[in-house]
Amino acid sequence: LARKNDALLLFASTSEVYGDAEIVPTPESYWGKVNPIGPRSCYDEGKRFAEALLMAYGKQYGLNVRIPRIFNSYGPRLREDGLYGRAMSRFILQAQTNQPITIYGDGEQTRSFCYITDTVTGLLLLAQNKEAKGEVVNIGNSQEKTILELATKIKELTKCKSSVTFHPLPKDDPKRRCPDTTKLERLVGWKPNIAFEDGLKRTVSWFSKKN
Ligand code: UDP
Repeated sequence: LARKNDALLLFASTSEVYGDAEIVPTPESYWGKVNPIGPRSCYDEGKRFAEALLMAYGKQYGLNVRIPRIFNSYGPRLREDGLYGRAMSRFILQAQTNQPITIYGDGEQTRSFCYITDTVTGLLLLAQNKEAKGEVVNIGNSQEKTILELATKIKELTKCKSSVTFHPLPKDDPKRRCPDTTKLERLVGWKPNIAFEDGLKRTVSWFSKKN
């Protein structure tokens, strides 16, 4: 369809293409360490396959494709329930309802949280910039946090009395995740604007109005 209409195609890829990365902060040039048959593999390999198709298609037909690899994004409306409930929103909900905060593993695994407006700005800049044609580019905040730090900060901000409980780590859960965003900065002059604590405050405040 994009080819027929001479349209630009921005494909929302993911940090999951790197799997349990051995290079952190992770640059786009890293090929990833992904279990092809594990519980996360349909998602990881699905995105990897889509990237491969788009690059081949772009090369063969000159399709105007750009591939942002989005790292953990957060903000209001982050899903807190079911299979796709994220750690941050689950912790906020648990804190606000005085339930135990459920940490998987020892909480020393890391993620780097990018506030949603920063992620969206990065996506729009990539869509607009001619230099980004055919490029694969990380979008994310490079401030790495442990899951334990996240839980502690949420406890502090919500002033909750929740205990912290530890549970088995899901299989193939990446140990560290942090983007190298040098390429995005160089290509489109992007830098994140929202500091972790500010973004978290806004998110907590949205959830307290909701619940
Ligand atoms: N996690 C956790 N408790 C929860 C939900 C998730 O400790 O109630 C952990 C999860 O195992 C992972 C991290 O928090 O190590 C981030 O999980 P999330 O699902 O938010 O994002 P992803 O793993 O996709 O980066």
